[in-house]
Amino acid sequence: MSLDKLKQEIIEYSRTIGIDKIGFTTADPFVELKERLRDQQALNYQSGFEEPDIEKRTNPKMLMPEAKSIIAIAVAYPSRIKNKPKNEKHNRRGLFASASWGMDYHHVLRDRLTKLEAFIKKREPTAIMTSMVDTGELSDRAVAERAGLGYVGKNCALITKEFGSYVYLGEMITNLPFPSDEPVTDSCGSCNKCVEACPTGALVQGGQLDSTKCLAFLTQTKGFLPDEYRDKLGNRLYGMDKCQIVCPKNKTLDFHHHPEFEPDPDIAMPPLKPLLKMSNREFKEKFGSIAGSWRGKKPIQRNAILALAHFKDTTAVDELIEVMESDPRPVIRGTAAWALGKIGDPKAETALKKKKMEEKDKEVLKEIDKGLSMLKNKQNKESQWVF
Ligand code: SF4
Repeated sequence: MSLDKLKQEIIEYSRTIGIDKIGFTTADPFVELKERLRDQQALNYQSGFEEPDIEKRTNPKMLMPEAKSIIAIAVAYPSRIKNKPKNEKHNRRGLFASASWGMDYHHVLRDRLTKLEAFIKKREPTAIMTSMVDTGELSDRAVAERAGLGYVGKNCALITKEFGSYVYLGEMITNLPFPSDEPVTDSCGSCNKCVEACPTGALVQGGQLDSTKCLAFLTQTKGFLPDEYRDKLGNRLYGMDKCQIVCPKNKTLDFHHHPEFEPDPDIAMPPLKPLLKMSNREFKEKFGSIAGSWRGKKPIQRNAILALAHFKDTTAVDELIEVMESDPRPVIRGTAAWALGKIGDPKAETALKKKKMEEKDKEVLKEIDKGLSMLKNKQNKESQWVF
C-alpha cells in the first residue's frame, strides 16, 4: 500500500477512535527548539520535571534510530464545568485546572495511540512505532506545531484553529516515511493578553516560560510555596488556566464530546476542608483517576490550606489548628501556621504561641513566626481605629 493511501486511511480511522486532529511531520531534529531549550537551561527557567538531555528532547532518532516520521494527535477537552457548584462561605472550594478534569488524559491518549499503532501494523507489518504522551522525551507542542496541528502561542500552549489551546497532545514516532503536513501560518500577532495577565510574570519574551515562576508548576511542588506566590495562588489546587482563559483564540470554545473528560464538579472543584485530613486511601479513591493527582496528596493539601487562607475562612480555623498541631509533615504544619496568621482569627494566637514552644522543625518555626507577625500587624491596624 502506498504511504499516501495509508496516511489517508489513518486520518479516517483516527476520527473513529476519538482523535480530533492528526498531522504528520518528518523525524528531523527540532533545531529551533534545541536553541530555545538551551536558553531556558542557561536562564534557569526549567521546572525540573523535564527530560534533562536536550539531544533526546530534540532528536527523534535518539529515541528510534529508524525514525522517518512522526504522527501528532490532539484531543479536545472542556473549558467549563456544567452545573458548577457554588463556592459558599462555609464550604469553600478549590479548583483543578481544566487539563486535569475527567479521566487522566495520559491513559486516554495512550490508549488511542495504541489503537492507531495496531491499525498501522495490520496494514504495514514492517512498521516500527513508539508513542508518547506528555511524559515522553519529545516536546508534544513542537511536534504538533511542525505537523500542522496549530501554532505555539505566547502562552506557550499549542493553539489549534478549531479547539483553541484546549487540547491534549500525543505523538508516535515511526520508521514509515509518511508525507509531511504543512505547519499553520496563524500567529498571536500584536496580542499580548496572556503575558499581561500572568500573575507572576512567568511568561517572558513572548513564548518563553520561566517555569520557576509559573503557578501551574508551583502547584505541583512538594515543599513550602515561596512567600511571594502564596497570595497569588487563589484557590488553585493543581495547575492554572489564566493564560488560556484570557486568550482570544479560546473565546467561547468549550468541548464536551469526549465523555472521559467530562468533569465531576465535586472533584474538579472539591470542598477544601475535607481535604485537610484526607487519608491516602480516600485521596486515591476520590482523585486517583485524574491527572492532577500524580504528585500525591501533599501538594494538593498544602494548596488547599493556602486556598483557605486566601478566602480568610474563619470556619476552618479549628481544623487548621489541629493540622498545625498534629500533622506529621512539616510542610503541612508550617503552611497551616502561616494560614492561621493570614486568616487572622483571634483564636489562632494562643494556638500559634503554644505550638511555638513545642515545635522542633526550623522551617515550621519560621512559618509560626510569620503567622504571629501577621496577627500582630492585624491587631496594630485594628487598634489604630480605637479612640
Ligand atoms: Fe497569543 Fe494573545 Fe492568546 Fe497570548 S492571549 S497566546 S498573545 S493570542
